[in-house]
Amino acid sequence: MTKWVYSFGGGLNEGGAGMRNLLGGKGANLAEMASIGLPVPPGFTITTEVCSAFYENGNAYPDDLAGQVATALHRIETAMGLTFGDANAPLLVSVRSGARVSMPGMMDTVLNLGLNDETVEGLARSSGDARFAWDSYRRFIQMYGSVVMGVPHHRFEDLLEQSKRTLNVADDTAISAESWRDVVEGYKEIVLRETGKHFPADPQAQLWGAVSAVFGSWMNPRAHTYRRLHDIPANWGTAVNVQAMVFGNMGEDCATGVCFTRDPSTGENIFYGEYLVNAQGEDVVAGIRTPQPMSALRAAAEQRPMEIVLPEAYAELLRVRDLLEKHYRDMQDIEFTVQSNTLYMLQTRTGKRTAAAALKIAIDMALEGLITQEEAIQRVPPASLDQLLHPTLDPNAERTQLARGLPASPGAAAGAIVFTAEEVEERAAQGQDVILVRIETSPEDVHGMHAARGVLTTRGGMTSHAAVVARGMGRVCVAGAGSIHVDYKAQTLTAGSHVLKAGDWITLDGGTGAVYVGKVATIPPTLSGDFSTLMGWADDVRRLRVRANAETPDDAETARKFGAEGIGLCRTEHMFFGPDRIGHVRQMIMADESEARARAIDALLPFQRDDFASLFRIMSGLPVTIRLLDPPLHEFLPHGETELVDIAKALGQSVEALRARRAALSEANPMLGHRGCRLGISYPEIYAMQVRAIMEAAILVSRETGEAIVPEIMIPLVGMKTELDRTRKAAEDVVAAVFGEQGTTLEYLIGTMIELPRAAITAAQIAEVADFFSFGTNDLTQTTLGLSRDDAGSFLPYYVDHGLLPKDPFVSIDREGVGGLVRLGAESGRSTKPSLKLGVCGEHGGDPDSIAFFEQVGLDYVSCSPFRVPVARLAAAQAALLRRKAAEVPA
Ligand code: PEP
Ligand code: MG
Repeated sequence: MTKWVYSFGGGLNEGGAGMRNLLGGKGANLAEMASIGLPVPPGFTITTEVCSAFYENGNAYPDDLAGQVATALHRIETAMGLTFGDANAPLLVSVRSGARVSMPGMMDTVLNLGLNDETVEGLARSSGDARFAWDSYRRFIQMYGSVVMGVPHHRFEDLLEQSKRTLNVADDTAISAESWRDVVEGYKEIVLRETGKHFPADPQAQLWGAVSAVFGSWMNPRAHTYRRLHDIPANWGTAVNVQAMVFGNMGEDCATGVCFTRDPSTGENIFYGEYLVNAQGEDVVAGIRTPQPMSALRAAAEQRPMEIVLPEAYAELLRVRDLLEKHYRDMQDIEFTVQSNTLYMLQTRTGKRTAAAALKIAIDMALEGLITQEEAIQRVPPASLDQLLHPTLDPNAERTQLARGLPASPGAAAGAIVFTAEEVEERAAQGQDVILVRIETSPEDVHGMHAARGVLTTRGGMTSHAAVVARGMGRVCVAGAGSIHVDYKAQTLTAGSHVLKAGDWITLDGGTGAVYVGKVATIPPTLSGDFSTLMGWADDVRRLRVRANAETPDDAETARKFGAEGIGLCRTEHMFFGPDRIGHVRQMIMADESEARARAIDALLPFQRDDFASLFRIMSGLPVTIRLLDPPLHEFLPHGETELVDIAKALGQSVEALRARRAALSEANPMLGHRGCRLGISYPEIYAMQVRAIMEAAILVSRETGEAIVPEIMIPLVGMKTELDRTRKAAEDVVAAVFGEQGTTLEYLIGTMIELPRAAITAAQIAEVADFFSFGTNDLTQTTLGLSRDDAGSFLPYYVDHGLLPKDPFVSIDREGVGGLVRLGAESGRSTKPSLKLGVCGEHGGDPDSIAFFEQVGLDYVSCSPFRVPVARLAAAQAALLRRKAAEVPA
């Protein structure tokens, strides 16, 4: 018999933290907390396997599920001394979803389930508070009505607002039991009117309705979007948790809260969170009432911190916080309820955090001895470092503050005001910087938040939907800027005397919560403290070296600052576009006789020599790989007539002749045309000039600095060994000539890019004449998939969205296809020459997933854009640790 239901709390814990796949995150952790002695109200979890079975069997449950649920429910009744549906002492339960990974706001919750016209009287008697009982009942109808029965939420809200107006009260807490009773009747009428059905009075029918709604919500469009954005497979399913209710809204000695064991924004080791006295579960996250801080330390004068208001429960919570961190060895995000001064834990999970917090928490926990250095390395997602490398506001920049909200997710972002998620997506797709401005966000806005530079809300706290989701995504977010009034209809935003329209610019500072009018200048981040500590630890364990792709001195400086260990790719063609060079380059291409070409090439030599010399200086002895000219010549051709006339004059040729030459150079498919080493073979004097410039610069700088410079000359787009034979020999002749002229020699390498399938397949032969290989995975992806780098944008997103490809292969390496060729090329190359140096210099060199693959293949280094260098260093360390672990545990 399959076990579909697992009990927790009340003395029986059938699950644990290790059973997340079966019980979902929430269920597994509830069982874990109960088993380590924390106060968890008893309950049970219906497994994710039921969700899968439900969808596989055409929305039908397994036959034996009902019996197992009945047994588990009975256990709760026994533990609580209450009975589900009993008119005198009714058991009430909550029903919540819980997938393997948390999906904020995606799934639905029903509280106070089990109430009807009879049990509400029982609750009133047992609690001694009729007002509370009827308020609970109306909350139940409201939640169940909207979540399970599909009644628009605002129907209930409207009626409540109307009642408050009639009663002339502002706050829910001022509504009497009698009035709540009327609201309940009104709610039931709304349900009947909207759905044509009576609100179910039978608690069993309520329970199964709620369970089905949770399973149903797994396939709703919002959940779908969230899964797509976060790569969560649909077949994981969700679990359902049914748990005895405890009440945070039974009076002034009751409360409910959401908090983090450390500050999720900065990572600081302080207890951080929000709570509300006399409130129920969802009130905190909903952002309707303004929550109060936990600790007195962080509280402003007018605030009422829990430490002061409910000292006993707070002390107990501090004990729980400590226990949880020691037990889980990570920062936790917890939900609790205090009922009559007694603390109950409703949830714990690994807390989402900003990149800065992830870094600080990992380092602090390692220093506190809670985790090892290696674990600290694995705790920080490499791609998140990007956020730390992002700019913050320039403290000296002029600014006009518009408002101040909560610093919900750090970084600085400026953009045009946009009020809907749809418009954000449209404008972002056109390359515009936009800020999504909402009163509050909901799961429908997630796609817009993703596309925006930042998010601003006028309502809600640090744990509001906007704050939680933005932090997870690494979007800048200022939440709850209450002094701003947003008018969706008029498309305006008003704060004091400022009235801004859609399209006007604002700047957000997610670190302070400030909102500024217009665009405020930013400064680059500092890379010290925890960042450099983590980088140091990562450098100690990684095997892969990390180089940068850089041509300009600026890029090379940035690369070194970020810890690059050399240049893996200098694309020399980028050096040809300078205003002082392009004329000579064009003359070189357009010349019809070798003397004129030689003159143009001679004119380029000093420029190239200077370029290379400054790279060698900046990299001071670190390896520098310089690639000889690669792109098709027509990319440099003059487009306009005046340019053509100038070149004709310089070359002493007719404009007509030049026009004819331009036409002759044009190609139908230039990416597969006259480019790479094919150019070096047709025009050996171009490569000869570049090799000469490289060697002269190397000699110059090594004389200047006394450092041994070992230049690496790289020949692009080789498909056949014969091509490398020819170009290598030509290069060696030039090197020999330079050595003769300079009266000195130095060590150098000549290698090739492996960026064509034929090169990978015949790598054993090519390796005979190569000192190194650098996999050009951009071209290799393009040529292996037969997918143009420049044109794939029109259909590739569809492929990824619809699962035809798991990821964009230009971003993350296609392991089976392109990866297979990289592996083959590496293995065959090394079979010929064990000492062959192997690297990768395509975009994949900065992608953590691809780096993990390159570690497995055993490459020597990855090379990526300068800003990705820290990401690559950390990813390389994680990949090394993963590989070590795999080696320890034989499969
Ligand atoms: C490559 O093809 O991967 C490469 C690095 O060269 P480029 O991007 O310049 O074609
Ligand atoms: Mg290439």
